[in-house]
Amino acid sequence: MEKRYIKKDSLNGRVKKMAEAGLVYAPVKDGDNVLFQVLTPGMEPLTAYANSKNAPKNFFFPHTEKLMKYTRTEKGMAFSGELAEAREAVLFGVRPCDARSFVLLDMLFDQEKYRDPYYIARREKTTVISLACIHPPYTTCFCTSVAGGPTDAAGADILLTDLGDRYLVEFLTPKGEKLEAHFSGDKAGDEADARKQAIAAQAEQEITSRIPAKEIKPILDVNFEHPFWNTIHQKCLACGTCTYLCPTCHCFDISDEQKGDDGIRLRNWDSCMFPLFTLETSGHNPRPTQKERWRQRAMHKFKYYVDNFNAIACVGCGRCVMYCPVNIDIRKIVTDISKL
Ligand code: SF4
Ligand code: SF4
Repeated sequence: MEKRYIKKDSLNGRVKKMAEAGLVYAPVKDGDNVLFQVLTPGMEPLTAYANSKNAPKNFFFPHTEKLMKYTRTEKGMAFSGELAEAREAVLFGVRPCDARSFVLLDMLFDQEKYRDPYYIARREKTTVISLACIHPPYTTCFCTSVAGGPTDAAGADILLTDLGDRYLVEFLTPKGEKLEAHFSGDKAGDEADARKQAIAAQAEQEITSRIPAKEIKPILDVNFEHPFWNTIHQKCLACGTCTYLCPTCHCFDISDEQKGDDGIRLRNWDSCMFPLFTLETSGHNPRPTQKERWRQRAMHKFKYYVDNFNAIACVGCGRCVMYCPVNIDIRKIVTDISKL
């Protein structure tokens, strides 16, 4: 694996150069928020930022996407796909928790039996450049409790680690190696590994939020009907903020919009927190209250995903904790479950 050093103050210029050559998504300041956006001339990519408000999963799994068009003809229905939209792209500045979310989403969208061509086309054409968290930014970060870490490389094609006056650039995959020309610099040797290990150990120590996320699966296995589920949902507003900001949530709905003989089939994000999500045409709703919906959210992340893919569907980014309008805290829920 190739490793190099680049000067710290050269990074912004390099990213902007990449954006002149092709499509680059990067974190940028947008009002009070940091959001991933297409980098256009005049925009400054952020390198020293905590984390974005939106999770970058939407570049592979957009809020809304056309799956196909259809037209009624004299010979019957004619269909055409929309896959041509996927373009070569660079996703720059992804924090390790969010990069790990791509690994978790791959498990679902890129299975041997079920392959989602829309997601896979974008994933294959996008090179992910991660920025290690040298000082984990929030008290709500808990990546180390869910198999991640502030300097982890999972999900990244290139990992950048801030060493003070320079960045260590690690080219982790063939896709990452294709961008080597944009990161010209001195070769890094074994001394870089030792320096990075020290930084990683320090960064992990700075994460103070630790929860027993890996321990609760056997408890969830046998407590579907436990009275505990009556205790967490009362103040939930069913707003869906937690799921829409979550880098690993991936529920969607498919609908057709038709005018005359022409129509489009759309896939839109949906949320297990919404009452309509499971409402059946008969009027029956198998998850009639927020109790069943919250149970589903916890079960999906900490039991069903482990059953199906041997992985917890949470990367510990803390967004749901920070932005829930009524302060429901998934860390407390996990901790309480561990005591059942
Ligand atoms: S459940 Fe919350 S902390 Fe975990 S990945 Fe989703 S938004 Fe982040
Ligand atoms: S963000 Fe909070 S209030 Fe909104 S659906 Fe999630 S848990 Fe409920």
